[in-house]
Amino acid sequence: MRRAVFLDRDGVLNRAVIRDGKPYPPRNLDELVLVDDARSALDRLKEKGFVLVCVSNQPDVGRGTLSRAEVDAINENLARALPLDAIEICDHDDAAGCDCRKPKPGMILSAAERFRIDLSQSFMVGDRWRDIEAGRRAGCRTILIGDGYGEPFPSDPAAKVDSLTAAASWIMQQDEAHRFPMPNLQDLKIAIFADGAEKAGMLEMYAKPYIKGFTTNPTLMNKAGIRDYEAFARDILAAIPDRPISFEVFADEFVEMERQARKIAAWGPNVSVKIPITNTRRESALDLIRRLAQDGIALNVTAIFTLDQVKDVVDAVKGGAPTYVSVFAGRIADTGLDPVPLMAEAVRRLAPAPNTELIWASPRELLNIFQADAIGCHVITVTNDILKKLSNVGKDLSDYSLETVKMFYNDGKAAGFTL
Ligand SMILES: [Mg+2]
Repeated sequence: MRRAVFLDRDGVLNRAVIRDGKPYPPRNLDELVLVDDARSALDRLKEKGFVLVCVSNQPDVGRGTLSRAEVDAINENLARALPLDAIEICDHDDAAGCDCRKPKPGMILSAAERFRIDLSQSFMVGDRWRDIEAGRRAGCRTILIGDGYGEPFPSDPAAKVDSLTAAASWIMQQDEAHRFPMPNLQDLKIAIFADGAEKAGMLEMYAKPYIKGFTTNPTLMNKAGIRDYEAFARDILAAIPDRPISFEVFADEFVEMERQARKIAAWGPNVSVKIPITNTRRESALDLIRRLAQDGIALNVTAIFTLDQVKDVVDAVKGGAPTYVSVFAGRIADTGLDPVPLMAEAVRRLAPAPNTELIWASPRELLNIFQADAIGCHVITVTNDILKKLSNVGKDLSDYSLETVKMFYNDGKAAGFTL
């Protein structure tokens, strides 16, 4: 399906002849004057892939006051001068009861069928209410050039501009916004968990209602300089008593892992125990995972990289306690493999166990939040450095461009470079 811009003729592509404040068509080639920017505006739209169709009422033909030959001569001239794909003419008066005279959408609808046009992604540009109404009835977005000659409008155009160039710019802006829509935080269904082990950073995120939970791990805790695991965990749980928090076991023998898991689970009702999918000898933790889940201990099975591991965990915990299945999408991406299709498949594999939720772990960039949301992933664990970029979501890209230019300029100046 293609997109089109439908254009009225007189007062849009060529100047209307104004008598007593009302627009009239040129009566012959001598009276035909193209608007100055018709060619440049249409060239820009053409370049963007729009089909360009002129749709024009010429009722004076039906009334017998203008010959069809004059109308055709003018149209041939327009067709030579402008990159139009078609010129549609209705030469009826109202009395004819035709389907093509604007405000009826007949000319637009027939061209749409012929050129396989998606009208919802198309536009109608006119200078009178009949143009706007025809565009609206056809399901196009409508743009009025000028003031409409003071005539009443049954419906408002989507945009009012003062030139064909401005109309083309508005259309291209709308078209780009549709094809590259800015994301919106309010539309996200995925739960964002903050991943970290620094108390101040965790509390900063706890203050934000859109952070729905927390995850930690021994690596982050070690980096944060934590030496007393339980004291840290109890301190955090006292400050964050009402959102899920995952704490990980740190043993390599399953007997000891189980002892730690049961102890950690007792710290609070909002605790999930992180169990790695294997120990360091590649021995499967599935038996332990099954036992804990079936004993009602909420789990977060971590360090998962393959779909087989996902399936095994789902089989082990099905019917048991709530379990996060934490797939390291970011680390998978670090190998050059696109994690999106793999994560989408993981979502499907969780379906047989409603007590499971998929975590997109180790995201590398803010975009991953939207990718994870788009495939129906339940949770994404995000570090604070990426979470800080959430304020960029929906930012105007031309403003961002300017900000970037200023950064280069200021840094160049600060460095005192000379050439
Ligand atoms: Mg007109």
